[in-house]
Amino acid sequence: MDYPTKFDVIVIGGGHAGTEACLASARMGMKTLLLSHNVETLGQMSCNPAIGGIGKSHLVKEIDALGGAMALATDKSGIQFRVLNARKGPAVRATRAQADRILYKAAIRYSLENQPNLWIFQQAADDLIVKGDQVEGVITQMGLKFFAQSVVLTAGTFLAGKIHIGLENYSGGRAGDPPAIALASRLRELPLRVERLKTGTPPRIDARSVDFSGLEPQWGDDPRPVMSYMGSRADHPEQRCCYITYTNEKTHDIIRGGLDRSPMYSGVIKGVGPRYCPSIEDKIHRFADKDKHQVFIEPEGLTTHELYPNGISTSLPFDVQLNLVRSIAGFENAHIIRPGYAIEYDYFNPQDLNYSFETKAIAGLFFAGQINGTTGYEEAGVQGLLAGTNAALRAQNKPAWCPGREQAYLGVLVDDLITLGTQEPYRMFTSRAEYRLVLREDNADLRLTEMGRELGLVNDARWQAFNEKREAITLEQQRLKETWVQAGSEQAKKIEQKIASPLTREYSLHDLLKRPELVYADIAQVSDAKLDEAVSEQVEISIKYAGYIDRQQEDIDRLRSNEAMLLPDNLDYAAVDGLSNEVRQKLSEAKPQTLARAARIPGVTPAAVSLLMIYLKKRG
Ligand code: FAD
Repeated sequence: MDYPTKFDVIVIGGGHAGTEACLASARMGMKTLLLSHNVETLGQMSCNPAIGGIGKSHLVKEIDALGGAMALATDKSGIQFRVLNARKGPAVRATRAQADRILYKAAIRYSLENQPNLWIFQQAADDLIVKGDQVEGVITQMGLKFFAQSVVLTAGTFLAGKIHIGLENYSGGRAGDPPAIALASRLRELPLRVERLKTGTPPRIDARSVDFSGLEPQWGDDPRPVMSYMGSRADHPEQRCCYITYTNEKTHDIIRGGLDRSPMYSGVIKGVGPRYCPSIEDKIHRFADKDKHQVFIEPEGLTTHELYPNGISTSLPFDVQLNLVRSIAGFENAHIIRPGYAIEYDYFNPQDLNYSFETKAIAGLFFAGQINGTTGYEEAGVQGLLAGTNAALRAQNKPAWCPGREQAYLGVLVDDLITLGTQEPYRMFTSRAEYRLVLREDNADLRLTEMGRELGLVNDARWQAFNEKREAITLEQQRLKETWVQAGSEQAKKIEQKIASPLTREYSLHDLLKRPELVYADIAQVSDAKLDEAVSEQVEISIKYAGYIDRQQEDIDRLRSNEAMLLPDNLDYAAVDGLSNEVRQKLSEAKPQTLARAARIPGVTPAAVSLLMIYLKKRG
């Protein structure tokens, strides 16, 4: 048969992790195969049609900085853009876009179909070809064999997926899609720890049956933020309004009345759900004193009447769903197009992975996305990019790459998962990053694009734009240091209007920008600067927050010295004097690769870290 069967990298699954994984590998020049159930569902958003948000936009921008697809697809499909936490400091500001799910999928598919070195094949992967402790390829549903040095598995919620609506349940990967049963049982034969998690989604509503007249409208921001460093507002399609409504006591009574038929409360669902994205029945139970919960009504796209009521995810029986929806203001006559449901699925303990996302047990087999115990498109996408990159590096016999916690939210995510594991779906928050002042969404390119270029992930156009931006920032920082405002001058008068006190001596623009009353736009006004927004933002942040950033950098330098202290895999912790048995056990199980990682294991005390350090120094 004249069909290509030998590849460098095979990626199973065309969701958010899989698409970034195969694109990354192909960008690095590897002959890459993407195997997915259905070409029509490549890049499908299983739950809400939105990308970004707090902590998550940092990941999207990091994917973008490394040449990935998610942010560009968001710019091509976003129908509402907002900056969350806009009034707070730059570390926690986050861009969120409501997307048209059809346009989003189309944009992802366009990237895939136009990516050199990438082959797409619509087939379920039913089995892995494993020889000894090494993966060699994949066998598909119709028995075709494909071979590669590296295989990346990104099966999302599909592995032994079970869908629940009330006490009814059936096998499914998500509503409308088949589960991956054969592959799930094959994976259970391998030496990997498998557990169950669950997630859920709300019923979707027909906009024509909603009365918007009494609801709070919510438009996007003006000026409209852009998601990709290479994107522009001109890429954005027509913008749409969202609305806000609330549940009420009647809604809560209806929910309480249905709990005996809830799969979660009757014990049918065993898997743990996402703490920060709870179902409405969970919210009523956990926050019993609240008399209402907010519901964001989000359009699913420009060419559909379907609405996503964000905040009422549920797996209650359909009759209860209908009643609870119709008890909400604006939804009195709502028509449900798709029922809400919960899904239980297999995930693997991420502590069984290396930092490259290669499994410790099977060489060449990489895991990314929801199967590592995370939740969210962004978390999946960034993992896919890492796993695809490392799969490609492995295929070239090159060392693996993973950024540190001080370099990227990606580094935080990987380190959290591998050091701590997870018992519930893990999502990203800015609070998870200890160095968040340096890991901002606005500077992901400055942190990562150079590395992305070295890895072969960043194309010429992005590299050129990045270098121009970096140079413009440096030039402007320099110019501000060298440009002076004399007391009594016209420029000084303009500045004085903003700071309400006279300038009594000569100041550089750099020094003036440090003052809390002044922003870059004020400085630009007195010096006729016309800079790109992204450049002026960097200049402003770097000058205004210099003190804090420098202090954080000192912490990072200290961390780096601990990162440089390697702990050999075969280190006998019983031989380290003074460690408690508990600490010895934890370290022997986790086998941290560096002293810094050992320090992050819960229960490993600062005293234990000092003992380890002394031991390592003595050992030489
Ligand atoms: P997926 O997007 O699930 O993609 C998996 C892909 O793998 C699919 O294309 C599938 O066809 C393919 N595949 C699977 N098995 C095989 C196989 N054997 N052979 C070939 N192809 C295969 N996230 C949130 O952040 N908040 C939420 O509230 C939320 N709710 C959710 C509710 C539901 C019901 C579901 C299903 C998901 C929800 N999510 C939520 C999660 C979000 O959809 C995922 O985090 C994200 O899609 C994970 O991306 P992924 O690439 O890992 O997997």
